[in-house]
Amino acid sequence: DSGDGFSGGDSAGERDVQLRPRRLDEMVGQRDVIERLKIAIDAARGRDEPLGHILFDGPPGLGKTTFATVIPAEMGTTVQMANGAGLSAPKDLLPYLTNVSEKSVLFIDEIHRVPKSVEEYLYTAMEDFRIDIVLGEGVNARTLNFELQPFTLIGATTRAGMLSAPLRDRFQIREHLGWYSKDQLRELVQRNARKLTIKIDEAAAGEIAKRSRSTPRLANNRLHWVRDYAQIKAKGDVTLGVARDSLDMIGIDSLGLDKQDRNYLDTLIRVFAGGPSGLEAIAHTMNVSSDTLEDEVEPFLLRSELIVRTRRGRMATAKAFEHLKLPLQP
Ligand code: ATP
Repeated sequence: DSGDGFSGGDSAGERDVQLRPRRLDEMVGQRDVIERLKIAIDAARGRDEPLGHILFDGPPGLGKTTFATVIPAEMGTTVQMANGAGLSAPKDLLPYLTNVSEKSVLFIDEIHRVPKSVEEYLYTAMEDFRIDIVLGEGVNARTLNFELQPFTLIGATTRAGMLSAPLRDRFQIREHLGWYSKDQLRELVQRNARKLTIKIDEAAAGEIAKRSRSTPRLANNRLHWVRDYAQIKAKGDVTLGVARDSLDMIGIDSLGLDKQDRNYLDTLIRVFAGGPSGLEAIAHTMNVSSDTLEDEVEPFLLRSELIVRTRRGRMATAKAFEHLKLPLQP
């Protein structure tokens, strides 16, 4: 799980499932992506064929997994979920590929983590619905040929640039998921508040939206926390003041940054004098992995123009100094 240092009482995973849309029309935002997918889905259904393979890319929490569960629902088919990090050898693919039924979906999250040796098996699986796996070595080596049912592969990645061209080119549909507007997130918060029977006014929903880093997953997490807080401190009524106080309490600031985001900016500004600094140096100083920073922290800081990436490294902008109330370096 990602992005939000704080997760309240019951499992964040369960809560996720509770609020996850089941159909395309229940999704907020991404209208143009949804429009294109609907055409592809209707066309495939009309021809009684599997849907073409789809690749989603974009920062965490913007709906890649949601699409991967909603699309099979629209197709009236089933989905198997896998993760690229768990597919370290060709044999790891076998249980998934042999289980695909006709027109069903195989979802591979973090597909950029599939190693090259496994990726090659995906090529024939995607193109010819067939895999030839070599088992054993030397004189004992034998090849197993599997015919697969025609299926749809949905891949998701936060790093589209890390995919090899041959893999990327085998996806007929490629969609980038972008950030959500404040209005879209407010609509999401209001809708999910109704689902959870939370009494919330429009200004409070807007405040949660504003402090959710343009990310539905964070809006949902924050709504859950605000609900807990309101229940204990405000008889369950979520007003603007309640939303502000509760989010302040867990260190979510007016821009929606959490402690880790501010720690990044603080490190870049105080330790590296605002940069330019390499990602690895920042990661070492903060004692977190550079992958976490690159996937979960930097995208929103870049989009908010709090940092810029230059050839010589990351740099804090004037806006970042201002936000942390630190004097600009001469
Ligand atoms: P990751 O790759 O990190 O898993 P993701 O991009 O797959 O992230 P999801 O798990 O799909 O993100 O989304 C997180 C949560 O946000 C979902 O459980 C869902 O409740 C909500 N969500 C995401 N996108 C939408 C949307 N367009 N409309 C409504 N809810 C959404």
